Amino acid sequence: MKIICVGRNYVEHIKELNNEAPKEPVLFLKPDTAILLKKQPFFIPEFSNEVHHEVEILVKINRIGKHIDRKFAHKYYDEIGLGIDFTARDLQSKLKEKGLPWEKAKAFDGAAVVGSFLSKSDFKDINDINFRLEKNDEVQQRGNTSLMLWKIDTLIEYISKYFTLKIGDIIFTGTPSGVAKVDSNDILKGFIEEKEVFSIKIK
Ligand code: ZN
Repeated sequence: MKIICVGRNYVEHIKELNNEAPKEPVLFLKPDTAILLKKQPFFIPEFSNEVHHEVEILVKINRIGKHIDRKFAHKYYDEIGLGIDFTARDLQSKLKEKGLPWEKAKAFDGAAVVGSFLSKSDFKDINDINFRLEKNDEVQQRGNTSLMLWKIDTLIEYISKYFTLKIGDIIFTGTPSGVAKVDSNDILKGFIEEKEVFSIKIK
């Protein structure tokens, strides 16, 4: 399986990093080795002094598809989840400055937290889902899928122009504002509406 991530999909997050608003979605990939194993803590890697959490809504692909039309995109997933796109921000800034790929800063081992998935049918409208990240029991990031620049079905159409989507692939749909550094002993908890879907200890 592969993980396809969308960058700069929420206006407030684009502003907080002083990035330019993109004209089309920014995409990058994480390998399956980036997935943080269930119940394992996240170890801050030695090559970074500034790992940020980015909480993101996830979409799990349930059938193979290429050049998927937005109108039919809803047929390609039944589950919605929440995860963290851990980012070595110090390293990413250096790579961005030089125009180099971001993988070392975003695709390292453990950099993808994948929480429990919920059935799409649990939601009235997938374009109106509230989610949040709590750090040590305080809300650190809050988002709603209505605030995405490109909504889920549009992302599937766009991504599948470039990459064939396969069963089990996961799309990270971008982070809202509030990204911040994690420190040893932090506890990060993710919620979709009021349901806790992951809890991660930082080491
Ligand atoms: Zn992200």
